[in-house]
Amino acid sequence: MRINIAELKREVGRRLSVRVQGTFAPEDGAPVPCEAAVRLTNLGEAIAVEGQVTTVPRLTCSRCLETFEYPLAVRLDEEFSEHPDEDAFGYAGEVLDLGEAVRQALELALPMRAVCREDCRGLCPSCGHNLNQGPCGCSA
Ligand SMILES: [Zn+2]
Ligand SMILES: [Zn+2]
Repeated sequence: MRINIAELKREVGRRLSVRVQGTFAPEDGAPVPCEAAVRLTNLGEAIAVEGQVTTVPRLTCSRCLETFEYPLAVRLDEEFSEHPDEDAFGYAGEVLDLGEAVRQALELALPMRAVCREDCRGLCPSCGHNLNQGPCGCSA
């Protein structure tokens, strides 16, 4: 998710609004497209990046094991510096790559235990039938 910042770097105070597309690969899930709509500000010492990242990963429900779409919209508010430290991501030259900042922001927004819906009934512990599709007969 690379942004050309040659113009932005020309003077302190310059701003740049951009949309960039990329791919989000959740730790346990298939890669999906993601988009960042951000505003960059040249702060002199660093470049501030503010905006929103959106994606729709497919997660696996921890109860019924079905996959489902989980739309995410996450705020991004980071600084990038040519001398990165714990507060700032790095960039070099005239290209700023949002990829790692976006990946971290989205990864943090994923639920620890995903559930397809609040009232998901899960699987029968005896036969493994998906109880969202109706009773299995074990309890009868
Ligand atoms: Zn479920
Ligand atoms: Zn059963």
